[in-house]
Amino acid sequence: MYAPPVQRLITELSKLPGVGGRTAQRLAFYILRASDEEAGALAEAIREVKDRIGLCEVCFNLADGPRCRICSDERRDPELICVVEEPSDVISIERTHEFAGRYHVLGGALSPIDGVDPEDLKIGELYARAESDGVREVVIATNPTTTGEATALHIAAGLRQRQPQLSVTRLASGLPVGADLEYADELTLGRAMSGRRSV
Ligand SMILES: [Zn+2]
Repeated sequence: MYAPPVQRLITELSKLPGVGGRTAQRLAFYILRASDEEAGALAEAIREVKDRIGLCEVCFNLADGPRCRICSDERRDPELICVVEEPSDVISIERTHEFAGRYHVLGGALSPIDGVDPEDLKIGELYARAESDGVREVVIATNPTTTGEATALHIAAGLRQRQPQLSVTRLASGLPVGADLEYADELTLGRAMSGRRSV
């Protein structure tokens, strides 16, 4: 129906989350109408982010060097680790200004149905980190969804088994159940952090 380059663009755009075939088509036509500069800036932004941004070697947050800004910041408490699913959750928690420790980004949540098993996430790396760095508390801040809760239980059990003396906490209730952290407002998320409880 379309010339192959147009079809290729639509196909690529339709792979983006939340973008169906119709939206992909609309975006493709927007790009076709855009000036060379505008379309080039979009292509260049995608290329640059893939070239320059990788994962922090310590916490697996996004980083433009070997370590992310938070792991490079000496003022952040290295004995307090907050475990989240995605880098976007780090941003959500940072916005609350309630957390002065460091992070550990799992890269998703356990979901056996979708083929996501413990070895697909940075869980082993978390256990190793908790054992080696003199960590005193791990706050589990996975999403209050079915997969996030299952992940929290799995990690809490794994940490308890390896390090019974370690304090393992979970964000307080009050977060909208079934929703991702990124949709929680700052006040609610901040309260959930300050009121975290042992698990
Ligand atoms: Zn880091």
